Formats: sequence, C-alpha cells, structure tokens
Amino acid sequence: MSDQQDFTKNVLPYLSQLEEDEAGPNPAEISRRYGIPEERIVMLSRNENPYGPSPLLRVALRNVPLHRYPNSQPFLKALSSYTGCPEECLVAGAGMDEIITTICRIFLGRGDAALIPVPTYNFYGVAVELCGAVPIFQSRISGFAVDRKIPKRIKMAFLCSPNNPTGNSLSEENVQAVVEGTDAIVFLDEAYAEFAEKSLLELVGKYDNLVVGRTLSKAFGLAGLRLGYAVAPPWIAQQYRRVAPLFSISSLSLAAGVAALQDLDWLRECVKKIVSERERMRERLACANPSEGNFLYVQTQEKSDVVAERLLCQGIVVRDCSSFPGSGEHCLRVTVGRPEENDRFLKEFERGDTK
Ligand code: PMP
Repeated sequence: MSDQQDFTKNVLPYLSQLEEDEAGPNPAEISRRYGIPEERIVMLSRNENPYGPSPLLRVALRNVPLHRYPNSQPFLKALSSYTGCPEECLVAGAGMDEIITTICRIFLGRGDAALIPVPTYNFYGVAVELCGAVPIFQSRISGFAVDRKIPKRIKMAFLCSPNNPTGNSLSEENVQAVVEGTDAIVFLDEAYAEFAEKSLLELVGKYDNLVVGRTLSKAFGLAGLRLGYAVAPPWIAQQYRRVAPLFSISSLSLAAGVAALQDLDWLRECVKKIVSERERMRERLACANPSEGNFLYVQTQEKSDVVAERLLCQGIVVRDCSSFPGSGEHCLRVTVGRPEENDRFLKEFERGDTK
C-alpha cells in the first residue's frame, strides 16, 4: 500500500463534520502558560466536588482482585438501596457520558431527530451526531423551563435538571408534560440532583418512555473514576445490557462506588457545605441565576470570553458559556469550590466586572 492513499475517505461522512469536544485547560497547562504554580490554580470550571470522595474509599480499594474481570453486581445492589429502584431497572456505565452514548445508540440512527432544549449540557448534541442523527435545538421559555410544544417525529428528547449551565430544576409538571406529549424516549439527566435535594426518579415507574441518568462524578466526588448509572423501565434496561460494553467500568471504580454509596453521611456533609457556599456566593453576585446545582450561571457585562481569560491569568478557571448553543456571549458557569477558592473568584470577578 502506498503512502499516498487517502485513508481518511474511510471515515463515515457524518462523523467528519463533528467538532472535538472541549474539556478546557487543565492545571498543568495553565501553570505552564501563565507561570502560576499549580497549587495556586483554582479549578471552578468542571463542577467537581472540591472535598473529594468519602475517606472509606481507601480501605475499600485495598483488596480489589485486579486479575479478574469486574463484577458490577455489588454496585448495582448498592445503587438499588440508594435509589429505592429494583435492580432490573438499573444499568451502570463508565460515567454518565457512556450511558448517554449507549442510550443514543439504542434509539437513534442516521437521519433521526433528537430534541435538545438549549442552553444545556453540550454532550447530548455530540452523542446524537455520533449516531448520524440530527439535534433539534429548541430555545427554553421563561425561567429556563422547557417548551411543552414538542416537535413531531423526534426519537429522543434530552432534559437536564438541575440544568447545566443555567442551574434551574425543571418542575415535575414540566417534565410530565414533555414525557406525555411525545412518543419519543425522554432522557432526564439528574447529574446534580443531590445538590437540589430532590429528584423525579419515581416517574420512571410511571412512564415507559422515561430514563433518568445519574453520576457519582459530582456530589459523590468520584469524577476521576468514571461512574454513572441510569434508572430505566425494564424494557429499556434490557436493551441497554445488550448494547453496552460488558466490562467498561473498572473493578476499582465499582469498589469505590460501593464504598461511596455506603457513606451517605459524607455525601450529606459535602452537599451541605457546597449549598451553603452557593447561597453565600449568590448573595454577592446579583448577576447570578438561582441555582440548585453546585455551580452558578453568571451574567457578565463584558463579553464572557474576555472575563474568563482575565480570571485565567489570575489562575482562576471558570467556564465561558459562549460555546453552549443558546447561551449567548455574556455568561459564565462558575463551580462552587471551597470557601477560600470562592473568595478568590469573588474578589477577582468583582474587581473586573461589576454588573
Ligand atoms: N450530565 C451533565 C449535566 C453533566 O454536567 C456532566 C458532566 N459535566 C455529565 C452528565 C457527565 O458526567 P460523567 O462524569 O458521569 O460522565
């Protein structure tokens, strides 16, 4: 075979249009770029739990048999007791992102349409396009609620509550109106439900077209271990098990998940500290939307990319929302960190942008 051959022609045509997803700069990169020591960098861009996971994890990870393929059964059992949902309705994945791609693979083919009320989590659009399907971006109505007029002939709809990046929860009535108003599969993303201290999980028992996604990346502090799950009607859970990779979650992640689910005191303590900081920050930021997540959606006077870059030069990393379709060019998403991190953000932000 000659070097001159164009092997790129083998890429599926609908995939060649996809943009690379952006994770944003990591502390090592920022340190190099701006000459700031890594320990001075404040990461408020990825909605992580700054307190990390339960200390019980250290013990749980000691005796994991690494020469064996993973067994997800103990994790599913622990999830069943945490969620109150039967195991036949539970599926687990390597982060909720894997759950989202797998669910899309079950329901979306080339040319199918999926409804995405924006602004919202960008990965839904990527997952839809990975299937060759078409995202239909729909503007939100007042209070960032979802329009109950659902387009016809969609195969999936993506709801997110509390919504990333706007922070609002959807009312039960709003979610039910969407689920009842369509014959599509509705994916309700509850990545941040623990911070809202409420959930619509119980609706899964009522509707055969509703799947709720969850993750241990946020309130449980396990973002680095990639552990997510979904609660689905049994018929969807069954399809999921057929399509998903058999061993995508490592034994270490599964053991950590079991330990995290056994230490709900730690979870509650983290949530309490983060919620209290969220409210303290919001009182200082008249330009922030009320939030039920571990982040704030903040309006900026100057363009948000300029404000984000200025904060970055000070070693404070926040998310510029101009890359979220439907968010415009004047919004930042700021993760609630430890009190001292939040103080650094508030001080720098107030110095430069006083809306
Ligand atoms: N859903 C939402 C709304 C998120 O914000 C994120 C992560 N930022 C995810 C899902 C993905 O979570 P995971 O780390 O479990 O893949």
